[in-house]
Amino acid sequence: MTAAVPADVISRLKAVLGEGGWSDDPERLAPKLVEWRDRWSGTTPLLALPRSADQAAAVVGICAASGVAITPQGGNTGLVGGQIPQGEILLSLEKMRALRDLDPFDDVIVVEAGVTLAAVHEAALAADRMFPLSLASEGSATVGGLISTNAGGTAVLRYGTMRGLVLGIEAVLPNGEIWNGLKRLRKDNTGYDLKQLLIGAEGTLGVVTAASLKLYPVLASRAVAFVGLQSPQDAIRLLARAKAETGGALEAFELMGRRGIGLVLKNIEGQREPLAGEHPWYVLIETASGEPGAAEAAMERLLARALEDELIQDAAIAQTDAQAKAFWALRENQSSGQKREGAAWKHDVSVPVSRMADFIDEATRAIEAWAPGVRVVAFGHVGDGNVHYDVLAPVGGDPAVHAARRDEGSRIVHDIIARMDGSISAEHGLGTMKSAEALLYKSPVEIDALRAIRAALDPKRIMNPRVLF
Ligand SMILES: Cc1cc2nc3c(=O)[nH]c(=O)nc-3n(C[C@H](O)[C@H](O)[C@H](O)COP(=O)(O)OP(=O)(O)OC[C@H]3O[C@@H](n4cnc5c(N)ncnc54)[C@H](O)[C@@H]3O)c2cc1C
Repeated sequence: MTAAVPADVISRLKAVLGEGGWSDDPERLAPKLVEWRDRWSGTTPLLALPRSADQAAAVVGICAASGVAITPQGGNTGLVGGQIPQGEILLSLEKMRALRDLDPFDDVIVVEAGVTLAAVHEAALAADRMFPLSLASEGSATVGGLISTNAGGTAVLRYGTMRGLVLGIEAVLPNGEIWNGLKRLRKDNTGYDLKQLLIGAEGTLGVVTAASLKLYPVLASRAVAFVGLQSPQDAIRLLARAKAETGGALEAFELMGRRGIGLVLKNIEGQREPLAGEHPWYVLIETASGEPGAAEAAMERLLARALEDELIQDAAIAQTDAQAKAFWALRENQSSGQKREGAAWKHDVSVPVSRMADFIDEATRAIEAWAPGVRVVAFGHVGDGNVHYDVLAPVGGDPAVHAARRDEGSRIVHDIIARMDGSISAEHGLGTMKSAEALLYKSPVEIDALRAIRAALDPKRIMNPRVLF
């Protein structure tokens, strides 16, 4: 818990924010102090709601002068606890939701940090453009949060993570100064890149207040297929073919196991079996192309040959938008489908794509030997080498006992990841959940350099002090 905030600091913050620009009403604060899985809850003496970068700068300036800590928060969809304050000032960007500019010639949209991802999609589409990042939390996740966690989502395979989609950033640095880095250049080779430091910084190097983001053309054809197959090894082989044979049209390639599909069908209303029979593993594939009909044709060719070669067991290509959405719902509900099954050890890990199947095999053997009866649910963005590797309690097992073994169980999984030259956090960040553990897997040389950068920008460590190194 962070030290108590002096009363005079609270008064000055209220004064610069003005009426409606702050709250200490417990009811107003309540939804911002718990996260959606109910794993973390927090406290704050004040919710700051700046309406502009200038107001955000005034808040950070007052806090910096007094050594008072701040936790920034966007849509509160982060999965590692970094947005939940423990006594710090909670700075929410929810009143900074302006669309500042959209230029189809520069293929750029400039938005304030509190704008949701869904609103970015809508604004881009209205101008006949597309912003490609897509994730299940897009109705709430904000541009500031997406940048600060370097979010990935389902189309990383083709468009990259936020690191590749942000052209410029406006931010309040930890000393309270505004950095206007809202460029919209595709090329800018002028030394260190401050924008890239802020991306993935999880609120530790300042408050992102606006960003310019890359837009893409809307593609004319799109196909979504659900495929049943025998093993993750076969999924990796199919992925290699899909990359080679679809002429660059491959956009998403998501793996799911039968257990995960079974839990979605059991626990989430309105879901249906995607294929006639059951299969040990599934992939959802999406292709998209600028040429009418090309995405569908590429998908049909790929699947017909894979069936002929017995690389896959069955496949269905969505014939309508509703069917495509139903396929995606099976993927997007993989986490929600586990909620009613009790405690789970969650891992968001990555390995080189070529090692993905080995990782799933080795980790599952090790975990099942160490904790007999546990239920592994592995799913995720396998095209990026990223898998969500969740371990549920045995059926009828005591959730408290399972939860108590989480740290030891996770160490087994993460040690395998480290041996395969992978990462213990592929897309959700470290937050308060994994910051200490990440130190075990980084070299002292890297940790020293990262700490030096933070200390140079934030010598009093006021920005999200419990997060990262
Ligand atoms: C159902 C579901 C599906 C998800 N799927 C994916 C997925 O596929 N890929 C993926 O990458 N993530 C996924 N996530 C995780 C989450 O949605 C992302 O991490 C998202 O980027 C968080 O955005 P947010 O606005 O909710 O940020 P928050 O949760 O509010 O904050 C996250 C972190 O960013 C910091 N922060 C927030 N705003 C700012 C700001 N303006 N300036 C500085 N720091 C800030 C916070 O302090 C915190 O450390 C998923 C989450 C859910 C609930």
